[in-house]
Amino acid sequence: MYDAIVVGAGPGGSMAALRLSERGHRVAVVDWRHDIGDKLCTGIVGIECGRRFPPDEGHVIREAKAATIVSPAGRRYSIERREPHALIIDRVSYVAALARRAEAAGAELILGPRVSRVEVSDSDVSVTVSCGKGRDSLSARLLVLASGFGSPLVRAAGLPNGRNDGYMTGVQAEVIVDGVEDTEVYLGERIAPGSFGWLVPLDGSRALAGIVSRKRLNGHMDRFLSDLRSDGRVREVTKGPARWGIPLRPAQRTYADRVLVVGDAAGLVKPTTGGGIYYALLSGEIAAETAAEALSAGDLSARRLRGYERGWKAVFGRELTVGYYARMLYEALRDDQIDRLQSELWSSGLKDDLIDQREFSFDWHGGVILKALNHRRLGALFRSFGPLTGAFVSRLTRAGRQTESSA
Ligand SMILES: Cc1cc2nc3c(=O)[nH]c(=O)nc-3n(C[C@H](O)[C@H](O)[C@H](O)COP(=O)(O)OP(=O)(O)OC[C@H]3O[C@@H](n4cnc5c(N)ncnc54)[C@H](O)[C@@H]3O)c2cc1C
Repeated sequence: MYDAIVVGAGPGGSMAALRLSERGHRVAVVDWRHDIGDKLCTGIVGIECGRRFPPDEGHVIREAKAATIVSPAGRRYSIERREPHALIIDRVSYVAALARRAEAAGAELILGPRVSRVEVSDSDVSVTVSCGKGRDSLSARLLVLASGFGSPLVRAAGLPNGRNDGYMTGVQAEVIVDGVEDTEVYLGERIAPGSFGWLVPLDGSRALAGIVSRKRLNGHMDRFLSDLRSDGRVREVTKGPARWGIPLRPAQRTYADRVLVVGDAAGLVKPTTGGGIYYALLSGEIAAETAAEALSAGDLSARRLRGYERGWKAVFGRELTVGYYARMLYEALRDDQIDRLQSELWSSGLKDDLIDQREFSFDWHGGVILKALNHRRLGALFRSFGPLTGAFVSRLTRAGRQTESSA
């Protein structure tokens, strides 16, 4: 019997497996992918994530210091910081290296079979793994579910799934670009309703183009690619587009008797951008800490494992709440209002006030969002957009205050 079975060798599961194995626990990691980490993703992480969980030099495609934001009306605004604020990584090799480190620390990687069933009893947890027509059963004292977005295993393990309104769809294609030096972010209903599109240059002339939205996408990606072609930004589409879900809200509970849920499976993603690699790594690490203590104490009850949820909430719970309401606020804006906001930000020097400040971080958005809303002119502009926007501003400010006082 294993001490822990981890389902999923993405960033969340690989990190949990690494930390548990480093502490001497007997761990199995099961993933149906042979090509570890090869999941639809752009591979942008903040500089803090890069420092805390450093990629090898060969995994970093480029450092990002600058970006251009293209408003719904097509006006281009550039941001450039003195230091890099994000890394564009080769996600597949980054995640695979993490899984291989877990293996080197003693974890058993079982690649190919799909976990089709989970059963939790008083004495253990057993999972059924299926490969072709063959089936096998593995058992452990504890299960870490790191099986990604919309995993049915979460419910099978006795936990409530994510909320119905709680996800976005991301669509991405690989393209060849001409003269695109830095990341470009495209705003407006035409591109991605209530959200944004991106063009992220990789190495040479390769780039990733994508959109993400909570609303129904209907021909948006084709139109985005076609716009990029006619603007001369994209020369050719080489792969895709492909789509996958991104959770927007955390699951109602992320622990149960003998079970912990991490990363996308638990809905732990930045609601503003849909970035989830950092929170998957952090939650994997926090889960391993709680699990190791619980295994040593011989108490794997939900009561004991609750410490995991307390742990991730203490680290990034406020970000999830503030980020969620910020997304709701943004979704309530019309294109002309987004244009007004951007022009106000750039013409008044407010951008330097916000973006060049310590609070601005690719990894933590809460601080800069709350600072923007508390800014006299920006706050007033948001409120002037109407009662719905005003209500979200108030909700957001309240969420900021509540999370501050509970921190
Ligand atoms: C288009 C798009 C772009 C994105 N870009 C970024 C970005 O730039 N930066 C960022 O931080 N985040 C980004 N994300 C989000 C990011 O990819 C995820 O948040 C992150 O991968 C979550 O990690 P995870 O370990 O929780 O899950 P995953 O990476 O999804 O890993 C889950 C693993 O579980 C395995 N699995 C699932 N079910 C089973 C089963 N039944 N049996 C066996 N194995 C199973 C899967 O094969 C998979 O390997 C993007 C998402 C999308 C859709």
